[in-house]
Amino acid sequence: MDAKRAFSLLKKIGFTRMGGTNEELQAANILVDEIKSIGGQATIEEFDVNSQTIKTQKLFADGVEYEVVAYGNSGNTAKDGLTAPFYYMEYFTDNDIAKFEAKGKIVLTNSYMSLATYKSLADTGCVGFITFGGDVLDKKSNSDLMTRELRQPLKDYKTLPGVNMRAADAMKLVKQKPKNITIKIEQDEFKTKSRNVVAEIKGELDEVIVFTAHYDSVNFSKGVYDNGSGSVLLMEMYRHYTKVKPRRTLRFIWTGCEERGLLGSKAYVAAHEQELSKIVFCINVDVGAPVLGTERIVVTAEESLTHAIDYMTKELGHAIQVKSDIYSSDAIPFADKGIPGVNFMRDGAPGCNHIHDRNDTMFYLSSDALKSTGEFLEKFSDRYINSYVFPVPRKIPDDIKKKVDKYLNPIKDLL
Ligand SMILES: [Zn+2]
Repeated sequence: MDAKRAFSLLKKIGFTRMGGTNEELQAANILVDEIKSIGGQATIEEFDVNSQTIKTQKLFADGVEYEVVAYGNSGNTAKDGLTAPFYYMEYFTDNDIAKFEAKGKIVLTNSYMSLATYKSLADTGCVGFITFGGDVLDKKSNSDLMTRELRQPLKDYKTLPGVNMRAADAMKLVKQKPKNITIKIEQDEFKTKSRNVVAEIKGELDEVIVFTAHYDSVNFSKGVYDNGSGSVLLMEMYRHYTKVKPRRTLRFIWTGCEERGLLGSKAYVAAHEQELSKIVFCINVDVGAPVLGTERIVVTAEESLTHAIDYMTKELGHAIQVKSDIYSSDAIPFADKGIPGVNFMRDGAPGCNHIHDRNDTMFYLSSDALKSTGEFLEKFSDRYINSYVFPVPRKIPDDIKKKVDKYLNPIKDLL
């Protein structure tokens, strides 16, 4: 594990590489070239994703214009826009007054649009929505108005036109107390490609362990913390096992479009349904390298593994918080197929780094911090990949399974 080498690869892929864009393809090619330079081979596995070209995105409140971005995948309004009364919905419960108030209106919600809120709004007969992001102290010069996308399960449930605005503008809008809001959205929706980068190292046994890390970022973010860091740690693991032949076969998957709803790992399990029975375990790395931060491992497997890893951290002298749970990342689609896994991460200490915006930069990161995650990752992998029989049963406990189902089918869960 050479953290300095990993850190320089991190700088190379440290540009905005949103799922389904040319920049994501460019990052995929950098990973492929790196694998080739190690003497290995990689394949790019493409999959379809939604894309859109937004032509018009406007919001007027009693004639006053606000800067907004349209939710991609949220359809089109009529040419002259959708006009309806305004309602600021602070929070929503099913028997709340909000349920009555939202009907027939364009609704501003606090912060992001949760799945539960979306479904409730759709059921209530709300006709459009407004979300906001960032901090009221943000200046246009030091922040971006974040783009948003209506995820497919929501669109399938009901398509509501939506826009996103800055927090400061949302505050201004509420103070203005407009009677009517007009939203204008015009967008072309089409399919494009995203891709997973896949490389294999044959072991002595047919049993397969997959390593996953997503290499895409969100818009405006260089995504070095999330998740260039995990991508380069995976590359170090790949290098490691090209030198010491593993007992089990290893498949390294750098996933695309994780940030758009785990689309890369979902596409991988869908395309490889026939071979999944050979996969016994998933090792996922998502976020790392903040100078000030906490090492964490989230175990999506039977609880004895959580204890085993916890003992191992103590035995080997690594201060890592270990717990059983699901983690919102690429191990989930594998867990859905009954494949247990672990998630490695180093979270930034509060206020000490940024995620999902232009401030996810190298400034907050160090190779020493990257090494902190990498060292235990390597020790854990060596022990489990080379174990005589694989000690973790290929099953997901009921309580974890429920969480996975709820995560993957949020709407179904609410019905
Ligand atoms: Zn991530």
